[in-house]
Amino acid sequence: MDFKVTRFNQDKLTCDTLVLTAWSEGVSGLRMSDQLCNGLVGRLWTKGKISGKVEQVKVIYTETPWEQVVILGLGEKDKFTGELARRCGADLAETLTGLKSRKASLPVEFENPAVTEAEALEALVEGMILGNYRFDKYRREDGEQEEEPTVEILAEDASLDTLGGAVHRAVVLAEATNLARDMVNEPGNKLTPAALAQRAQQVAAAYGLECRVLGAEEITGLGMGGLSGVTRGSAEEPRLIVLGYRGRGQGKAVGLVGKGITFDAGGISLKPVSGMEEMKSDMAGGAAVIAAMSAIARLKPVMDVTGVVPACENLPGGSALKPGDVIQILDGTTVEIISTDSEGRLILADGICYARRLGLEPVIDVATLTGACSVALGPVYTGLWSNSRELQEKVLEASRSAGEKVWAMPYDRDYYELTESRTADLKNSGGREGGACSAAAFLGHFAQETPWAHLDIAPTGFADNAQGYVKKGGTGAMVRTLARFVCRWTGE
Ligand code: MN
Ligand code: MN
Repeated sequence: MDFKVTRFNQDKLTCDTLVLTAWSEGVSGLRMSDQLCNGLVGRLWTKGKISGKVEQVKVIYTETPWEQVVILGLGEKDKFTGELARRCGADLAETLTGLKSRKASLPVEFENPAVTEAEALEALVEGMILGNYRFDKYRREDGEQEEEPTVEILAEDASLDTLGGAVHRAVVLAEATNLARDMVNEPGNKLTPAALAQRAQQVAAAYGLECRVLGAEEITGLGMGGLSGVTRGSAEEPRLIVLGYRGRGQGKAVGLVGKGITFDAGGISLKPVSGMEEMKSDMAGGAAVIAAMSAIARLKPVMDVTGVVPACENLPGGSALKPGDVIQILDGTTVEIISTDSEGRLILADGICYARRLGLEPVIDVATLTGACSVALGPVYTGLWSNSRELQEKVLEASRSAGEKVWAMPYDRDYYELTESRTADLKNSGGREGGACSAAAFLGHFAQETPWAHLDIAPTGFADNAQGYVKKGGTGAMVRTLARFVCRWTGE
């Protein structure tokens, strides 16, 4: 879907579909719509043909110069939110696709007390792009790509710039989210660690990022015993992917670290059969980081940002790590393996140490880390842990502005006890109780005094069911939050 923002000119309107919006309170003040359709929305309203109910979409075929007029209900003015706008956007996209519209025009005249017009438009466009997402490349009968409409946003002079900026952000952030979804939905035999690194290189080439990819020998040579340990049961080579964005910033670069387990069978602590196919999504954190870097490259914030993605498979091959084994993380910490299925924290420990070695600050990691987090929060919230109150607040603010649900969980030194081992410095499993919190404590050990936050997207990274603009499969969770966090860090 292509979007452009143009100056409203009723004589120069060429589209097959005109999209008009309606509130449930009534239809006064529709300057552009009234000029275009001579009070059509008002007449339909009076006759009770439309109600403006939120997410109600009506297609009107009538005596107008257009093939059809679509009327999109936005609901009650002062109850309107960005989230509702995103949902309405998904409904609108579905309608336009169903109508096989080639070009749709949408006059922006939905002022309301709850969110600014630019915020509402931004969320609506995000919802359209997110809602239009499909992953059917391996279904031969669905291979035919339907043509997507161009959407022309019509605005009055005074708001052209603001709305243009809003649409640009929406396009960048939603496309990045869909990019992450693509990676997550890709099967494990197609998206190997090497293939994930290739995607990162493509992103770097497309948007002008620095990209460095380390192979097995360099990873072992550096002393990343977590990553080189977990990969041992697999025939695929591991990768350490490093993406760099240079803003105009002085001071420290923000570090984003993403878990890139391209398939997690659990290793020797093998997972049960049921649902194991979803474990292709265990690189969703890595995908979120790569995709967020693409958005950052396009939005060009002041801050420097570096993304670090340790990537490998976790399989039960003959050389695989075994429970009871001891490995050594990049910073020298020794770890006793209790469960080889708690592999994410091992490669993230290396990733966080690597980020600190690069001098990155703050460091934010994103990972499908623990089933315990899903048990605690259900498929609704991402869990957040942080050793810094200030950082935690900023991540929460970014998530609110992105429209992604994040819940702050306890980061407390008392959880460190659960990660103590008698054999080594730490053990990689703190047991069933408080499993998400002890995993966070394990990671916090490696962040030390560096301001650090941890986002556990095990609940939210992969959707079992489609709902609104979220499609079944990879969700692209935290892409928008991370990108917005970086843009807001210096108040941009
Ligand atoms: Mn695992
Ligand atoms: Mn895992």
